[in-house]
Amino acid sequence: MKAAALLVAAGSGERLGADRPKAFVVVAGRPMVQWSLDALRAGGVDDVVAAVPPGYEVAGATCVPGGATRSESVRNALRAAPADAGAIVVHDAARPLVEPALFRAALAALASADGAVAAAPVADTIKQAGPDGMVERTLDRSRLWAVQTPQAFRREALERALAAGDELLAQATDDAWLLERAGGRVAIVEAPASNFKVTTPHDLEVAELLLSARRC
Ligand code: C5P
Repeated sequence: MKAAALLVAAGSGERLGADRPKAFVVVAGRPMVQWSLDALRAGGVDDVVAAVPPGYEVAGATCVPGGATRSESVRNALRAAPADAGAIVVHDAARPLVEPALFRAALAALASADGAVAAAPVADTIKQAGPDGMVERTLDRSRLWAVQTPQAFRREALERALAAGDELLAQATDDAWLLERAGGRVAIVEAPASNFKVTTPHDLEVAELLLSARRC
């Protein structure tokens, strides 16, 4: 099955407090989004559509305007993906340390699932609390995963999921949830600890150190 990638890079990244959209902040000498594009290419995915903010471009990718929400950005990018791509891998530009092997593993998992998500086992104990700040219950950590990107999908499954109304799209913090709601089978692919999301200035410092080391 031929694969195409949707690289979502249209968020503002307010929590980072930078002078430009997060995906275009320079990390180890290049715009953050460029690191994911290289990893995609090294992972064998050549067709990449990037959803970008107004006035920005990603060299080497087809660019489309981002939407008001992350899911809208994904939907805009999917429309521009080559028609013969039967597998689609979605990745957040905010995870610049992604490795090529993770893209390959997520796509390979589609042999027996409609979707596959990169995820890390939860290391902390997770408790559910009420609005009064009091603990209601402790969840079984052995079955919990913190879900990330890349997330790979059979194209028709992703198209169906994204056909949900705008209200549902706005609620979705990841694409797989939309598929799960519709009864789709989603596989977990274990990700290395390095695949963290750059959200805060501290994350950016760590990414800068690790990517500078990779360049050497
Ligand atoms: O804000 P957050 O880090 O959760 O965003 C995840 C990814 O989604 C980022 O790569 C961001 O650029 C992208 N995004 C987007 N369009 C939006 C909001 C977020 O492409 N409207």
